[in-house]
Amino acid sequence: MTTALYRRVAFVGLGLIASSMAHAIRGASLAAQMSGTARSAETRDIAREIGLVDQVCDTAAEAVAGADLVVLCAPVGAMADIAREIGPHLAPGATVTDVGSVKQAVIDAVGPHLPGHVHFIPGHPLAGTEHSGPRAGFAGLFRNRWCILTPLEGCDAGALDRLTRLWQGMGSQIDLMDAPHHDLVLAVTSHTPHLIAYTMVGVADDLRRVTDSEVIKYSAAGFRDFTRIAASDPVMWRDVFLTNKDATLEILGRFTEELFALQRAIRRGDGAQLQDYFTRTRAIRRGIIEAGQDTDAPDFGRQNT
Ligand code: NAP
Repeated sequence: MTTALYRRVAFVGLGLIASSMAHAIRGASLAAQMSGTARSAETRDIAREIGLVDQVCDTAAEAVAGADLVVLCAPVGAMADIAREIGPHLAPGATVTDVGSVKQAVIDAVGPHLPGHVHFIPGHPLAGTEHSGPRAGFAGLFRNRWCILTPLEGCDAGALDRLTRLWQGMGSQIDLMDAPHHDLVLAVTSHTPHLIAYTMVGVADDLRRVTDSEVIKYSAAGFRDFTRIAASDPVMWRDVFLTNKDATLEILGRFTEELFALQRAIRRGDGAQLQDYFTRTRAIRRGIIEAGQDTDAPDFGRQNT
């Protein structure tokens, strides 16, 4: 039998990530007790109805009282207000972590509101779906996925070890890096690709010469995968771009340059340049499959299509 790593884990925000953590923590008996809160009464009622955590509280202050781990699971833009509210109610020695998709902005927003007697260890699980809310979670979300922790200088080694073991218990592998580096890596691997997907879906929507029914009917040719990404939560992604501005603009600048280069190659009929480029990108896909981060099943693993 597993010994619980924490006495009481408190979630502030009860959406996809918090609900997945709650299922995974319960499944592996990683905490003795869990509490949580969300902004709206509707979400709190759903969480109560499905028994997501042991205690659903009406305020964040109540939820974090007596918790030895507090996980901030709200959009990045809400974190400062949440930290201000919970700061005075945190138990001495508690660990505060978060799951936000951007790290430096969370550190700047949350850090100033936390008392000196808690350990603040920012985190980001690299796992998600396009679904939101307390019903969207499932225990396997983090299995075989990376979770990046960005501990601050002087971070307590015992607190870091305990949080590492929690994520490992939920199936994740852990990497440590500093927050600015995290934000640049994620701008390349997640934030800019999302922006491109949003743009491509927007372009199809604007293109009146192709009918809506044709876009939907022939979507399996590639467009469908953009639409899945572009269906992600609008508030969460608004906050990602507002808070990871510099790194995303840097990568977007490079992307635009490459796009112009390919545009020129197409205009000039430079087949060699196009083929070289696509050969290089194919190798990256192979690397992702070899690293176990996706399957090699045809058509992205979909069945019956
Ligand atoms: P979600 O399903 O939309 O849930 C967000 C939760 O935050 C909701 O329960 C919402 O409450 C609550 N919330 C919003 N503002 C709040 C406030 N001021 N006080 C208390 N609760 C508040 O979002 P999610 O996908 O779980 O994302 C949560 C965090 O994880 C974000 O920071 C995101 O960047 C990060 N993340 C997401 C993914 C992903 O793919 N989804 C992956 C990795 C990390 P209501 O329901 O009442 O509005």
